[in-house]
Formats: sequence, structure tokens, C-alpha cells
Amino acid sequence: MSFSRRTFLTGAATGFSVLVLTACTPEAPKPTPTRTVAPTPDPVGPVPAPTAIVRSDWLGDEFSRGSHSFVAAGASPEQRAVLGKHLDGRIFFAGEATSIEQPATVDGAAQSGLSAAGEVLAYSTEGERIAIIGAGAAGAAAASRLVDSGLTVTVIEARDRIGGRIATLDDEDWPVPVELGAAWAPESGSAVSLRLASLGIETVALERDRLLRLADGTDVDPSDSGDAAITSAVDWAADRPEDSTITESLDGSGAGDADDSGDPPTARDRIDLALLEHIAIDRGAYPDEISSWYGVALPAAPTEERVLGGYARYITDQLDGTDVWLSSAVTALSYGDNGVSIRLATGESISVDRAIVTVPLGVLKQQGITFDPALPFEHRAAIADLGFGTTETIWLRFDEKFWDTDAVRWSVIGSDLAITEWVNLEPLTGEAVLVGALSGSQSAVLAGLDDDAVLVELSSSLMPFLAES
Ligand SMILES: Cc1cc2nc3c(=O)[nH]c(=O)nc-3n(C[C@H](O)[C@H](O)[C@H](O)COP(=O)(O)OP(=O)(O)OC[C@H]3O[C@@H](n4cnc5c(N)ncnc54)[C@H](O)[C@@H]3O)c2cc1C
Repeated sequence: MSFSRRTFLTGAATGFSVLVLTACTPEAPKPTPTRTVAPTPDPVGPVPAPTAIVRSDWLGDEFSRGSHSFVAAGASPEQRAVLGKHLDGRIFFAGEATSIEQPATVDGAAQSGLSAAGEVLAYSTEGERIAIIGAGAAGAAAASRLVDSGLTVTVIEARDRIGGRIATLDDEDWPVPVELGAAWAPESGSAVSLRLASLGIETVALERDRLLRLADGTDVDPSDSGDAAITSAVDWAADRPEDSTITESLDGSGAGDADDSGDPPTARDRIDLALLEHIAIDRGAYPDEISSWYGVALPAAPTEERVLGGYARYITDQLDGTDVWLSSAVTALSYGDNGVSIRLATGESISVDRAIVTVPLGVLKQQGITFDPALPFEHRAAIADLGFGTTETIWLRFDEKFWDTDAVRWSVIGSDLAITEWVNLEPLTGEAVLVGALSGSQSAVLAGLDDDAVLVELSSSLMPFLAES
């Protein structure tokens, strides 16, 4: 049951351009949000040069403009629900930013897609045509449910691949598929984990505990004092008449006035590490923007499931047999009693009965899609008030292992190195592959460097783990 593009496309009034849009069942995803560096054959310092590098650029990607939504100080989680409110039963919203229970996750996105599809079903009658804008986790879940219910569904996707912030590069040069976006399923038993298991996609449960080192390679004992300071700042903020960012609450409560003298790691280093790991990298959020009232939930589960078998199949499976148009960016939506008209960047217009919009909050913030009539005030306020941050990922492959540890997760504390958080895939794959995660400020620095400078930064960042020769 797929649309004939001839009947579905109404075309611009004049000068309708004939396009090659791909109406198809999904192809294997390609990871478009990347910058790649052609590594030099020469090592920079004692750390060997990688033989391959792939890195993400979610912030620069016009179809994402960041990686995760978060509740900024002054906003509230209820604004996620507001963002998800439909417009006259014609335009519906889904996506991780609309999920109150599990925002900024694949699970939350998928649940929001299912729930938007349920709303559409409550309004629609037999034979209706439904468009879903965006082929990420939310769009795929919504499409799957609507197709199962017998509606005519077309998924309209801006990129030349499906998956959105699930971006898997399946390349024989790498021992496992490279994940540039989501790489973890929250915990065993979650809806995502169950689906991954049912598809036979390999995952491995990994402890959250990390090998912790100073920049000079000295091992450091773990401590929860950084988390404790954040908790204390959040408790202080809870009794205040107004919300504040976590940075402000650390200052205001005094919990951030930790001793920064003496040998590293200082008490302040511990706080900075907790901010980096649990707010900046885990949640893609900015400590100087995120709400102390609603934004900070430190991780509770001791393990997480790392996806090794390719996250993309989670999406392709759900879109199997669905009509998906790739390379079809939507620029404008107008809606009324008779349905929804969708304008593409190519100049084409499409008419449907109803549409589900699943584009990232970053795209809505940049007004990548315009609405006619304009979005209600409460939607615009939610888009403006909620935050959208950035985590980036960098994958490195080496000829052979040069590091001195079999630990899977590593962190460097008390340094200003470009990358301080690593996953070592060697114990899991037998191949010398490291995956770095960067926070917004770190990635902004790295994004501005040329290829040679990036290699220098990588070399310094890996020095703490270099085995003695
Ligand atoms: C680096 C990184 C690491 C992450 N790690 C994890 C993790 O380990 N575990 C986890 O659960 N979550 C993680 N996340 C978050 C998770 O990936 C997202 O919450 C989830 O995938 C979002 O799904 P979505 O459908 O809401 O949005 P998206 O996946 O962004 O899908 C939206 C789709 O809309 C398309 N689109 C945008 N603009 C237009 C337009 N104008 N017209 C048509 N289409 C458009 C986009 O191309 C995209 O395909 C991570 C994200 C990133 C970036």
C-alpha cells in the first residue's frame, strides 16, 4: 500500500519541476552528519596515527542542529507535552523533545511516535493519506503503527538516509558498525532493548564505572563527591522561588566552592567531571543552561547496553515496506479543514489529510519549517524555552592496540584535553578501536581545527593511556 507519486504530488502552481525523489523501501543508512579526517601516516608524538577516523557533526547538520533536548532554566517539562499538542487534528507532533518520561532517548522518541500515531487514528477515517515528516525513531514507530492500522502512509525525510540521530555506518573497514549517534539502549527490559533483542542485534551490558586517570597517566580512585555536589546544588535550588541553571546553583549554594588547590584531582575537578559526564555528554546539555529544578537526574542503573550489532536495523525493520521519500526536505506546512499542504525545498507541494512532524527541536528552533497558520503561542514558547545541546562522537581505528588497559570505559580528570571520555572496543571486538565522546564546548573547539590540528589533539588526548615501551 504505497502512494503513487503522480496522485500524491500536486506540484507548485507553475513551473513544476520534475524531481527524482526516492519513493522506496529504505536503503541501508548512510551516516551523513560526519566530518572525516584523512589521517597522516606519520604519528604525532608517541601515540600512533589512526588508520581511520569518522566523526559526527550534529551541531552543523541543518537537519538536526544539535543532539539532545533538555529542560533549560525557566522552562518546564510540561512544555514538552505542549510541544506535542496537535493543531486542529491536522498536524501532530512527535520526537524525543515531546517525551516527558524519556526525553533525549531513542525510547522516548519511539514512544512519542506511537502516541502521535494513536492520536492520528482517533481522528482519521478509512482511506486517509498520512504524511510523516522525519524518518528517525519517532517517525519509524509512528509509520509502523499507522501502516499496521491500514492507513496510507508516506514518510518524508530530508536526508539521503533514514534513522535521524540513529546514524550507523556499516563498513567492512570497521570491525563493528560505527554509531555516530545513539549507541546505547537505556537498560535491559526497556522497549528499545526488547526490540533490539527480538531483531537479534547484538548488545553488551557495560558497567558505568570507568578507569579514571590524570593527564599524566596516573590512576585516580573514583569518587562520588562531584555527583554529591550537584545533588546538593539541586536540593538548594528546589527551595528557591525561581529556577536557576546548575552552574548558578553550584555557585549560589556554595556546593561549587570546592577546593581547587593542591594536586589534581581537586574537589573542583571532581565536580567538573560529573558535569561533563552526566550533563554534557550523557544528556547533550549545557550546565550553564540546564534547569536545576527539572533538568538533572543522575544515572541510577549500574550498567548500560552498548549496541554492537548496528542500531540502524532498529529503524529499517520498522520502515520495511513503507513508502519513504529520501532527500525531501520539508520547508512549509499549511493546514485547514481540508487537510495539510506540505511544501518541499524542491518547490513541490504535497496534499495529505494529516501529518506528523518529528523533526528535531533544533530544526524547529531555527524555523527550518514554517507553519500557516503560525504555530500557537504556547508551541512557540516551548520551542524557544526548551534547550537543545550537543554531544559529538569520534571513532578511531588503529593498526594495533597501543594502550595499557583492558578497561572498556575511560575518563581523564583535571585536564583541558580535547577529548576526555573514551570507550575502548578492543576487549569487545579484538580490534584496536576507540570511541571518544565530546561535550558541546569541546566539540566546538575541535570543529574549528584543521585535520592536522585534530590529529595533534587526538594524540594528546590519548597520551594518558599510552603503554610504556
Ligand atoms: C551523538 C548522540 C548520541 C546519542 N546517544 C544516545 C544513546 O546512547 N541512547 C539513546 O537512547 N539516545 C541517544 N541519543 C539520542 C537519540 O538518538 C535521539 O533521542 C533519537 O534518536 C531522536 O529520534 P527522533 O525521531 O526524535 O529524531 P531524529 O532521529 O532526529 O529524527 C528526525 C528526522 O527528521 C528529519 N528532518 C529534519 N528536518 C527535516 C525537514 N525539514 N524535512 C524532512 N525531514 C527532516 C531528520 O533528517 C531526521 O531523520 C543520542 C543522540 C546523539 C546525536
